[in-house]
Amino acid sequence: RASWGQQRAPGPRPSLIAINPLMLQTPPTFGFLFDIDGVLVRGRHVIPAAQEAFRKLLDSNGQLRVPVVFVTNAGNCLQHVKAQELSDALGLKVTRESASSVLGRNPVSLFISVPLVGACVGFQNVVTIQDVRKAFPLLDMVDQSRRPKELPPPTTDFPTIEGVILFGEPVRWETSLQLIIDVLLSNGNPGAELAAVPYPHIPVLACNMDLLWMAEAKMPRFGHGTFLVCLENIYKKVTGRELKYEALIGKPSIVTYQYAEYLIKQQVERRGWPSPICRLYAVGDNPMSDIYGANFYNRYLKAACQARAQAEVKRSVGVADPQSEDHSEPKEDWYVSLESCKSILVCTGVYSPHGDVPADPHESTVETVFHGHRDFRFDTSLLEASYVVQDVNEAVELVFEKENWSQE
Ligand SMILES: [Mg+2]
Repeated sequence: RASWGQQRAPGPRPSLIAINPLMLQTPPTFGFLFDIDGVLVRGRHVIPAAQEAFRKLLDSNGQLRVPVVFVTNAGNCLQHVKAQELSDALGLKVTRESASSVLGRNPVSLFISVPLVGACVGFQNVVTIQDVRKAFPLLDMVDQSRRPKELPPPTTDFPTIEGVILFGEPVRWETSLQLIIDVLLSNGNPGAELAAVPYPHIPVLACNMDLLWMAEAKMPRFGHGTFLVCLENIYKKVTGRELKYEALIGKPSIVTYQYAEYLIKQQVERRGWPSPICRLYAVGDNPMSDIYGANFYNRYLKAACQARAQAEVKRSVGVADPQSEDHSEPKEDWYVSLESCKSILVCTGVYSPHGDVPADPHESTVETVFHGHRDFRFDTSLLEASYVVQDVNEAVELVFEKENWSQE
């Protein structure tokens, strides 16, 4: 995806609101998770409301007044460059090192790029689709101009592929679809011909399940989720069996939010804010990834709170639970403090208020289009945002109001 420009918002400055000096002293007890595409940017253009929102979120030194983490399903190896550009466009002062998110390496990471996280899980020998195509030139037949002119000698020294990781939508879908299927059907040796289809197939991991995303065009663009739909259906059609994922990474998966929470905690520690964070607000434009994910995490937090309360009761009446012996020690206060993760849907991206998610979830659920991934349950209650606002600036204003936080 293209890099973002740095135009200044042409709109008027937000009106001044009376500042209560005591309020400015209050350390934050809430934080934000921002999606990027359709919330802060559209393609290479920064959304003016995002610049307005960040004027409220930053102090006069360009430092965040409350903890913020950017959580995007999009990404590639240049993501850290884009993160820096986005920070500049929003007036956010972060160093190049702190802009990119690589598991545990940067103490002050602000950005979660799911594919980058995936790239850091410790695989040692990585081959790309291009490497496979080069080693086995007879596999990629759709584009006649890319077919080999002469019959190449057979490749014999190519390593056996032990797993497939899908990071994001490829450039040439026909090549990737064909070669990934070849790898799965050949047990990782696409030069070989097997008598029977191996099943289960070698492990497949996928990042970014977003069916659609919003760039400059008026209509949404195909996301990696659309590519996965193609791959799953081709596999099913060819083999009669289900393509199985070892893991699905990114929003709306819980692990993405756990990592975001961890980054929020690091930020709070680094800034020396004394109070723990009790509430997170996740702002996004995609009901299926941003809203479903935040609501799913909220449900998880509530269940965790309940389990803690029950364990507390048991402890107080002196009932020992042998199952939880190792975990009976109270956890770090901060983790215990997080109570909720509220979802805020904006109308500047994929979601349109006149779209296909019904206002009443009991109505027409059969006809409603489900844009979520095959392996996620169609639970309409998880698609309902806690709040729906026009844009990210309104989202920030709403949260500041709810939290009695001064706007300037
Ligand atoms: Mg988005």
